[in-house]
Amino acid sequence: MTEPDVASSDARNIRTSITTEGDDFVINGTKWWTTGAMDERCQILIVMGKTNPDADDHQQQSMVLVPINTPGVKVERNLTVFGYVDQHGHAQVSFANVRVPISNLLGAQGEGFALAQARLGPGRIHHCMRAIGMAERALSLMIKRTIGRETFGKELVQQGVIQEWIAQARIDIEQARLLVLKAAWMIDNVGAKGARKEIAAIKVAVPQMTERIIDHAIQSYGGAGVSQDTPLAGLYAGIRTLRIVDGPDEVHIRDIARLEIKPYLS
Ligand SMILES: Cc1cc2nc3c(=O)[nH]c(=O)nc-3n(C[C@H](O)[C@H](O)[C@H](O)COP(=O)(O)OP(=O)(O)OC[C@H]3O[C@@H](n4cnc5c(N)ncnc54)[C@H](O)[C@@H]3O)c2cc1C
Repeated sequence: MTEPDVASSDARNIRTSITTEGDDFVINGTKWWTTGAMDERCQILIVMGKTNPDADDHQQQSMVLVPINTPGVKVERNLTVFGYVDQHGHAQVSFANVRVPISNLLGAQGEGFALAQARLGPGRIHHCMRAIGMAERALSLMIKRTIGRETFGKELVQQGVIQEWIAQARIDIEQARLLVLKAAWMIDNVGAKGARKEIAAIKVAVPQMTERIIDHAIQSYGGAGVSQDTPLAGLYAGIRTLRIVDGPDEVHIRDIARLEIKPYLS
């Protein structure tokens, strides 16, 4: 979905064009942050672009399957995350007159938005579950590190500030875990669409709380916390990034506010 030249958190901005010529689609545009495309096992891309530019805002986009070796597809470069190569990396990919058969369309023309929403909801809850695991790991590392390490005649773990970080981390993790469980229960019982507000809420709350806990854990490690000797620096880069991936915090906050306000406007 995401493109370097437009603010892609508003997917209506997506510019990549998908025009019809005979029995083919012809695709032109540039994407970036295409996770998975740098993996040598990657054979097929799901490309979202405009097939119906004159339709209503949310019916202009479609998703099309494009084999990665199709002429005109060029993997331009690997984008790093805070200087790390994350997973296999994230690709910038250009499409110059890329031709695929119309039968490569996913769903119906104009359904790109609906398909994206159907995937992103369940995807977001998985991100949050992993983020809770990251928070638990950071808390555990913080406690282990501060036991037995002494400054000014006192064990770090006995310092009030460290104890506050530890206690607050436990409170925050439990709150976040319950919110995620509620969102999961909602997805099971009313579907991802019905759970939209809860999914948006965890996508904001969980990365922010995990980021705070990892930050405290890094602080408790001193210099080691930002080095390659602990997993903390990598975890920090990952969680900071999650506040942008699959929609930035501000977009989810906007959605929650709109859903909360809506009943009062009718
Ligand atoms: C590691 C990583 C992996 C990714 N994987 C994929 C992938 O596989 N496929 C894919 O398509 N994309 C992927 N993305 C892209 C990601 O989804 C986008 O970066 C994200 O949606 C934001 O779009 P943008 O970068 O164009 O930022 P923009 O849309 O330019 O937004 C910039 C900033 O504006 C602010 N903003 C936006 N809207 C509002 C608002 N309403 N109110 C206040 N502030 C606002 C937010 O702070 C936002 O961060 C990935 C990104 C990263 C970093």
